[in-house]
Amino acid sequence: MLDNRPPLPPEIARRRTFAIIAHPDAGKTTLTEKFLLFGGAIQMAGQVRAKGEARRTRSDFIKMEQERGISVSASAMSFDFKEFRFNLVDTPGHSDFSEDTYRTLTAVDAAVMVIDGAKGVESQTRKLFEVCRLRDLPILTFCNKMDREARDTFEIIDEIQENLAIDVSPASWPIGSGRDFLGCYDILNDRLELMDRADRNRVVETIEIKGLGDPKLAQHIPAAMLAKLREELEMARELLPPLNREALLNGSMTPIWFGSAINSFGVKELMDGIGKFGPEPQPQPTAERKVAPEETAVTGVVFKVQANMDPKHRDRVAFVRLASGHFERGMKLHHVRSKKIMAISNPVLFLAADRELAEEAWAGDIIGIPNHGQLRIGDALTQGEALRFTGIPSFAPELLQGVRAGDPMKAKHLEKALLQFAEEGAAKVFKPAIGSGYIVGVVGALQFDVLASRIEQEYSLPVRFEPSQFTSARWVRGPKAEMEKFMSVNKGHIAQDSDGDTVFLTRLQWDIDRIIRDYPELKLTATKEMM
Ligand code: GDP
Repeated sequence: MLDNRPPLPPEIARRRTFAIIAHPDAGKTTLTEKFLLFGGAIQMAGQVRAKGEARRTRSDFIKMEQERGISVSASAMSFDFKEFRFNLVDTPGHSDFSEDTYRTLTAVDAAVMVIDGAKGVESQTRKLFEVCRLRDLPILTFCNKMDREARDTFEIIDEIQENLAIDVSPASWPIGSGRDFLGCYDILNDRLELMDRADRNRVVETIEIKGLGDPKLAQHIPAAMLAKLREELEMARELLPPLNREALLNGSMTPIWFGSAINSFGVKELMDGIGKFGPEPQPQPTAERKVAPEETAVTGVVFKVQANMDPKHRDRVAFVRLASGHFERGMKLHHVRSKKIMAISNPVLFLAADRELAEEAWAGDIIGIPNHGQLRIGDALTQGEALRFTGIPSFAPELLQGVRAGDPMKAKHLEKALLQFAEEGAAKVFKPAIGSGYIVGVVGALQFDVLASRIEQEYSLPVRFEPSQFTSARWVRGPKAEMEKFMSVNKGHIAQDSDGDTVFLTRLQWDIDRIIRDYPELKLTATKEMM
């Protein structure tokens, strides 16, 4: 243990709850699939494939959103690997859905960062990394596609160090790349791992050796490559820090494994690394205090809501990260926001492709709770204590549009649909102080299409999105008198979000600066915590 807390109960200590972050195409889907394969959750690679492909085109994506089953069952996946229980929480890959991604990252204890060996750190990698950094989330790195022509190993490591300002410690070292890629030298275990190109789903061949001087190496690696490997490892030892778990856990160092997800190569070593070095379930912050996983009372927080798993029923599933305790099916939990008791009689655990009833779950696990809209993002469930979990952000949308029902008589239905999406976190919905319409805000343009298509499908309501005079939104808080003065002067820019909080809408950064200058007591923020 790195701190002075007593050891966790074994069931909690063996849990590893993490997400994969990657730039599109780096290999997140492929890696996920191999995790599930080695975790025994699927029999054959290819079963989660459909999801990755579905993202490729806009219409496919919308169709997939409608066939929500796929994305839901893949939202959180639990599987065992050796003595560990892995909870892999999916982050939507499309950059348009980054807000969802950000929230997902509040529900995990670590992230696996996948980079493409030929491309290095890409824009989306950097963005996601920054979010992890905000929370000092431990990051383990997988450099993928080493079976293709990759960059020089030192260059890749340098780029991560420079670009992301984090120490990088090689856990393995690639031998060759592209057509000459033979495998890796496993630095942590002093082993040689050779890749079998013929069988993509097979476990790699591991050759036990006694360090770099072992003559057995020469039987497997051509002389010139072996000389290069020895030289590089020597340099790496001099220039790069050895793996330090404490530095990994506080987010200042990332170990890097090299491999090829599609060839299943390097994946088990990465999984070993997640188990061995990755964090156990961590204490979770609330406005009142930190909740430690070993506390016996069950607590949890909703970080995601997904609707219409079955389009025939208007049900939703709230994804809850358990922060403490040992949950058992049928438990009655206190829903802090409504102060009501909820009997959790049909919680689900997501075991890869299938949903299963969760008979029990422990701190660190993700369970899905079907409900009819009572559970919202940020809500706390406890055994009585009035906790409010903090740190789940809501971001000011970057795109705003007005929305109108095709049939003006259906305005009430539209309002209902919009509020549902706001509660799911799929969009921000603002009601301007002046006028009758609604303004919808999203982070990426594709969300408007998805919303329009869902409103039409689920509410039989054709809608039109239209340009809005505003482009930015800021939440505003402050003392009552100052708020009233500000609101009366800026009426045309004021709206309420779906929680009733005040929002300032504008198209000019200059306006925002002006408010900050003229109303020093007000706080304008681009994020708001959901609790
Ligand atoms: P995602 O967008 O990050 O989920 O990436 P995918 O897993 O869908 O992979 C993107 C593309 O790269 C697909 O065509 C994969 O088959 C391919 N790919 C994934 N891993 C590897 C690998 O290790 N080597 C090679 N050559 N291709 C890979």
